[in-house]
Amino acid sequence: MTAVGQRSLHQAAVAQFQRAADLINLEPRYREILSFPKNEIIVNFPVTLDDGSMKVFTGYRIQHNNILGPYKGGLRFHPDVDLDEVRALAAWMTFKTALGGIPFGGAKGGLTIDPHDYSTSEMRRIVRRFTHALGSNIGPDHDIPAPDMGTSSETMDWVMDTYANISPPGFRQSVKGVVTGKSLSCGGSIGREEATGRGVLYSLRHWCGENDARLDQLSVSVQGFGNVGGHFADLAVEAGCVVKAIADHTGTIVNEDGIDVGKLRAWVAEHGGVQGFHGAEAVDTEELFKVETDVFVPAALENQLTLDRAKVLPARVVVEAANGPTTPDADDYLYDSGVDVVPDILANAGGVIVSYFEWLQNKSARAWSFDDVDGRLRDLMWKAHDKVVDTVREHDCTRRDAAYIVALDRIIDVYNRRGIFP
Ligand code: NAD
Repeated sequence: MTAVGQRSLHQAAVAQFQRAADLINLEPRYREILSFPKNEIIVNFPVTLDDGSMKVFTGYRIQHNNILGPYKGGLRFHPDVDLDEVRALAAWMTFKTALGGIPFGGAKGGLTIDPHDYSTSEMRRIVRRFTHALGSNIGPDHDIPAPDMGTSSETMDWVMDTYANISPPGFRQSVKGVVTGKSLSCGGSIGREEATGRGVLYSLRHWCGENDARLDQLSVSVQGFGNVGGHFADLAVEAGCVVKAIADHTGTIVNEDGIDVGKLRAWVAEHGGVQGFHGAEAVDTEELFKVETDVFVPAALENQLTLDRAKVLPARVVVEAANGPTTPDADDYLYDSGVDVVPDILANAGGVIVSYFEWLQNKSARAWSFDDVDGRLRDLMWKAHDKVVDTVREHDCTRRDAAYIVALDRIIDVYNRRGIFP
């Protein structure tokens, strides 16, 4: 179980929304509903490996809430995936989609697996068999997975193809929207690949506007150099930021004059990680949290920004690209110390927002232009940020509390109108 002190990650996620619920005196029945996932699907399935042996894998799909629309959330393939983690991630999705103003609920899935341990053909069989095991528990109008840690557009193409093949022939062309984050040629959206990183940059841009700061005068540290951290770092450099420190699962590197992110990408593509990159100095893991930068962007796993690390962090703002990267005690400490934390459900919503655009494009069999996608992404991110800033003022609370208040208001309004069945 992923634990934060005595609390599991899911308990910590529930505590986050309960804090906001206290501020708006939310009725107990709604607190109770949102404290539990609606459905928990666990599947065990066998796959034949390349050497002819067979292995049984365990997969999860947790459907937290669908009052605003179909369940929506990524698939994570990582050795630390467990039921508790997926429950927390699914709950965060419910609040993220509500805050983003898109008609989706929240879900998450995963496999406890290190994808690096398997060949591409083994991964293809694992993903296909997992999709088959999930069967009608997913669907374009029911539950729509997307990429997360350890999964990619290639994974989504396999899920879509498998789902189409187990659908009746007359539906095979209309089920592309069963997953988002597909490759462009298989029905993906332009801009989806980098959407989460782009949304993180829009979050930082919004913070700059609030604080009279300029992007081209900011220095940045990034933890995680995968889809989200990698694209964010690219876009941050393009916007004029100096990216001084980057960490991934292989190591931490620092260059006070700025890391050449393009060259680092090429290095990582060839060597599998940042370790050994010639354009920066290798330092210990803990140094990442001490490098003098204005902005810290956690874009890897949860519970990375602990109290001890928060105490030495020089940053003025933490923009949470990862889900759940800050422990609750570190969060309180940063707030008390005047360090802004742009919370995960707001900062990393760009991915699910463009997923929504992909789903709309699949439904209408159309392809939008980059400007269409980017303009709408920026618009929704901006609206969500403006609403959170207004709510901070109204309730004199943290940005995280405010983000949950905005999300809860939207969810509870629909519960109040629809009532609770029967
Ligand atoms: P990814 O698998 O593409 O990349 C993960 C990165 O984290 C890799 O660079 C890896 O080396 C690094 N990492 C792993 N363990 C680490 C450690 N102990 N210390 C430092 N670095 C470590 O995953 P991703 O899609 O970029 O997701 C990253 C985070 O962003 C996750 O929390 C995910 O839930 C969240 N997120 C992703 C999306 C998306 O669209 N992919 C959307 C919203 C939120």
